[in-house]
Parts: sequence; structure tokens; C-alpha cells
Amino acid sequence: MRFAELLGQAPLARILAGRVAQSTVPHAYLFVGPPGVGKEAAARTLAQALNCREPAGGEPCGVCRSCRRMAAGQHADFRLVRPAGARLRLEEVRWIGADAAVRPLEGTRKVYAVRDAETMTPEAAASLLSVLEEPPGHVHLVLLTANVQGVLPTLVSRCQVLSFRPVPVEELAGVLAAEFQVSREQAVTAARRAGGNPARARRLLREATGESLAHDLPARLRGDPYALLKRAEELAKLPDRGEEQLEQVEAWLRETMTGGGWGWARLMPAVERCREELLRNVNPRLSWEVFLLALREQAAAGRGADGHA
Ligand SMILES: [Zn+2]
Repeated sequence: MRFAELLGQAPLARILAGRVAQSTVPHAYLFVGPPGVGKEAAARTLAQALNCREPAGGEPCGVCRSCRRMAAGQHADFRLVRPAGARLRLEEVRWIGADAAVRPLEGTRKVYAVRDAETMTPEAAASLLSVLEEPPGHVHLVLLTANVQGVLPTLVSRCQVLSFRPVPVEELAGVLAAEFQVSREQAVTAARRAGGNPARARRLLREATGESLAHDLPARLRGDPYALLKRAEELAKLPDRGEEQLEQVEAWLRETMTGGGWGWARLMPAVERCREELLRNVNPRLSWEVFLLALREQAAAGRGADGHA
């Protein structure tokens, strides 16, 4: 992906490409904006552009070996960190300090993207701060957050902050109308209701067009296992192999955990594994099957253990 392809983020895309072109990319960025506006995609593109063998105007070429490895989620010099539970803890970020000190493995720059930065414990934040005190030249840290107030101010002050804006309704509607084969009017309504948030708008349209395969999963977990396997097949056949639907399932899991269903926390590594496999496009159907059966098992166990499922 190129910066210019970030939906509705033209000014910010120009800034990022300009920085890459001039070799003035700061060691720490903080990308701020609601979920679904492209923060993670921008972080990946930054890693791709920094490691591209033939960048043009700060944009990655998309065809060199490094770009292809990056697009397939296989490049060793881009790492995405996410909280395994409700908070991002020291154990989950401590390795970054030692890893950052080591030269890049494949390319020339190492990029660490940290999702949900506002959930960091003070200890985790301190650990990242120490990396930023004297960052090796090849290291870039990109913190992603929907809530900048929740991020430790000393950490914010070390970062260059870029705010992602909602996508203009007309622009978003144009993309959605083509993607979902719906009328312009229907696309505009969804874009407006979603407040210009692409992920939310896609969810609304998927529900409206009966395409949502994830929203009724919780109810299906107790049902026929063969129906669940059939659903795994349907998810795997989606154009994105169900990556976006996995986000929905993950959001649902987090809500359930927050509501006291702690047993579900042990499924977060399974979510990660499934996501990585989907990204690598190895055998999406098998990945979904394994994941959905793990969910089903927890639904059965949760009924007995903490009465919550
Ligand atoms: Zn390239």
C-alpha cells in the first residue's frame, strides 16, 4: 500500500511521504484517531517505505522483495505489538529495548507499532521511554491510540503527533458504493451514520446487506459444530479472508472480558495466531476452523466455570 492510498488522509499522507523522501522520519510517532481510520495501515506503510529498495517520492515501490515481504506480513523488521488483555503490560514490551539494539534483520530500519497505546501500564510506558532516550538510528516507534489523553504525557512529549481525521462523507461513499455494489444514496447514508469512519461504515453496510458473518457468531457457538465449520469456510472465502470480521470478534471478546468473563482472556493468543495466519494467507479456512472451535470450547467451559459465556 502507498501513503496516497490511505482513505481520506491526504494531508497526513503527504507529510509521511515527505519525511521518508527527505530522510527525516522521527524516531517516535503517535498516530491519533478512532479505530478504523487507517492508523495501523499508515504504520505498516511507513515501515514499508523506510525499507523499500526503490522508493519514489517517499512512497514504497510495492514490487521489490522488501515491499512484497512487508505486504505479506512476513518482514522481520516490522513488529506490531498489541495488548494481550485489557492493558498493555511491561512483559509485552520489555523485549523491545534489547531487540531495538540489534541491527535490522532484512532491511535498514526497524519499526515497532504499538496498538492501544492508552492501555499501557506506567511500567510499560517507562520501558518504552527508555528506548526513546537514546534510540538507535535504525529504530522507529509508532504508537497508535484512539485516546491521546490516556497516554502518559512524558511519552506523548517524545513523539511527533499526527491526527487522523474522519474521511469526508462524499469520498468515503464513493469507495463504499463500488466496494459493496450499493446505491450512492445507501453509501452516503452509511458514511454519514459512521461519522466518516471507514471501518464503522463497512460494518453498517455489511449488516444492511446481510454480509456480516461475525455478528451472530456468539449465538452460534453453542449450536451445531458443523454449522460452525461451514461458517469458517464462508469467512475464509471473503476477499480479506475474514480479517475484518476477526476484528469484530476480538472487540466482542474484549467487551465480554470487561464484563467479567475472564475465562475468555485466554483466547487472545488464539486471536493473534489466527490474525497472523490470515495475513500470511496460508490456509485461511483451517485457521478459522481452529479458532472457532477454540471459541466453542470456551463457550462450553465458561458456562460451568464462571457462569459467563
Ligand atoms: Zn519497494
